[in-house]
Amino acid sequence: MKIYNTLSRRKEEFVPLEPGKVKMYVCGPTVYNYIHIGNARPMIVFDTVRRYFEYKGYDVNFVSNFTDVDDKIINKALEEGVDASVISERFIAECRKDMQGLNVKPATTHPQATKEIEGMLAMIRTLIEKGHAYAAADGTVYFRTASFKEYGKLSHKNLDELQSGFREIKVTGEEGKEDPADFVLWKPKKEGEPFWESPWCEGRPGWHIECSVMAKRYLGDEIDIHAGGEDLIFPHHENEIAQSECANGKPFAKYWMHNGFLNIDNKKMSKSLGNFFTVREIGEKYDLQVLRFFMLSAHYRSPLNFSADLMEASKNGLERIRTAVGKLAELQQKVQHGADGSGTMAETACMTVAEQENTAAANSLVDKYEAAMDDDFNTADAISAIFELVKLSNSTTDEESSAAYVEFLKKTIEKLCDVMGIITEVKHGALDSEIEAMIEERQAARKARNYALADEIRGKLADMGIILEDTREGVKWKRA
Ligand code: AMP
Ligand code: ZN
Repeated sequence: MKIYNTLSRRKEEFVPLEPGKVKMYVCGPTVYNYIHIGNARPMIVFDTVRRYFEYKGYDVNFVSNFTDVDDKIINKALEEGVDASVISERFIAECRKDMQGLNVKPATTHPQATKEIEGMLAMIRTLIEKGHAYAAADGTVYFRTASFKEYGKLSHKNLDELQSGFREIKVTGEEGKEDPADFVLWKPKKEGEPFWESPWCEGRPGWHIECSVMAKRYLGDEIDIHAGGEDLIFPHHENEIAQSECANGKPFAKYWMHNGFLNIDNKKMSKSLGNFFTVREIGEKYDLQVLRFFMLSAHYRSPLNFSADLMEASKNGLERIRTAVGKLAELQQKVQHGADGSGTMAETACMTVAEQENTAAANSLVDKYEAAMDDDFNTADAISAIFELVKLSNSTTDEESSAAYVEFLKKTIEKLCDVMGIITEVKHGALDSEIEAMIEERQAARKARNYALADEIRGKLADMGIILEDTREGVKWKRA
C-alpha cells in the first residue's frame, strides 16, 4: 500500500510500526456548533482509510478527539449564560448523530481535551525541564521554537523565514514571548472562562498540546498515521511534532495525511466565511449516504467543489448500485425458492461455465478496486471498479442464474461498498404501524418542545421514503 506522506511530499510504501496493527490519530472538530460538510470531509475520508485497513486485515486503533475548550465554545457559553461544558456536550452529542448518519464508525477512543488536563500539565512540565518551553511573567507557557532544529519539517517552512514573518505580528497578551515564532502551551484564565490549577497560573491549555497528549496516552509515543484537513499542516501539526518529539525524544507520526478542502464557488467552506452547509441541513434534502458517496467520488487530496449537480450525479450513482444489489436480492429469493421447490439445490447452486468466467472477470475488478485503494486510497477509481461490477452483474444475471453466482456477486459488491461506508440495502416495506408509531413519537417530541428529536424522527422517516404533511386534521403521510 502506498500513502502520500506530507512529511516527505511523496508516496511511500506503508510499513506499520507493529506488524498487523495501525495506530491512527485524526484531529476532530471543535464542538461549538453543528458540524458543516467541510468538517465531514476528513471524517468520511479517514473513516474510509480505516475501513480499508480493516478490510486488509489490520487491527486499527483509531483515535479522534473533540476539542471542547476553545474561545468559540467559551463565547457561545457566555452568550447563552451557561457553562462551556453545556455547549460542548450538546454539540458532541449532535456530532455523534451526524457521524452515525454519515455511517462514520465511532473511533476506538474519542478523547476530550478537558478530560486530559493532567497529561497536558505533565507534558508541559517535561518540555520546561528539557529547555523546550518557558513560563513568562504572566504565567503563560510558550514552546521555544528555536530549540527544535527540525521545526518546519512538515510544512516545509524555514524557521528563519518564519521568524522574520512573525516579527511584525504582535499579539496582545503575548508580550512575554522570547521569539515571535514561539507558541502557547498554557495561558492564564480570563474573567468568566473555565480554568484549571497549574504550577504557572490558573488557566487553560493552548490548542496544539491536546493532540500531542491524547495521541501519546491512547496510542503511544510513536504512531503510524496522523491525519486532518490540510489547513492543519501549519501551525497545528507542525507544533504537535515539535511538542511530541521534544517531550518524548522519539519520532512522532510516520505518515502524515491531509485531505483537501471542500469548497463552495472555489472558496474553502468555513464558518468564518459563512459559506457553509451543516450536515444537518444537507440531511434534510438528501440521504446522507449521497453526501458520503459525493465526498468519495474525488481523491481525498484534491479540492472538491460542492454543487447541487454533483450531488445529483452522486444520488444517481448510488441509486444505480442500490438497484443492482436490490435486483440480486430479489433474484436470490427467487432462485433459492425455485431450488427449494424442486429439491435440486445442489444443481442450481453450481455455476455454469459462463458464470465461472464471469466470476473471474468480477475478481479482476476486485483486483482493480484494491489496486486503486492501494495507490493512496484512490476512492474515485475504486468506485469506477464498483460501477463496472454493477454493469457486469446487470448484464449477466436473470432468473436462470445459479444461486451461487447471484450470491457471489451480491456479497462482492456489498463488501466493496462497505469499505466505502456505503449502505447498499434500502429499507423499504416498513409496516404502517411502525411508521405511525414514529409519527406519534415525533408529535410527542414537538409537544415537549424537543424540536431536535422531532427533526431527527422526520429525517429518519424521510430516509425510509416517507413524506409527512402537517395538516389541520393532523399529520398525514405517504410513501414517496
Ligand atoms: P475545526 O472544527 O475547524 O477544527 O475542523 C475540524 C476538521 O475539519 C479539521 O481536520 C479541518 O481541517 C477540517 N475542515 C474544516 N473545514 C474544511 C473544509 N472546508 N474542507 C475540508 N476539511 C475541512
Ligand atoms: Zn489536532
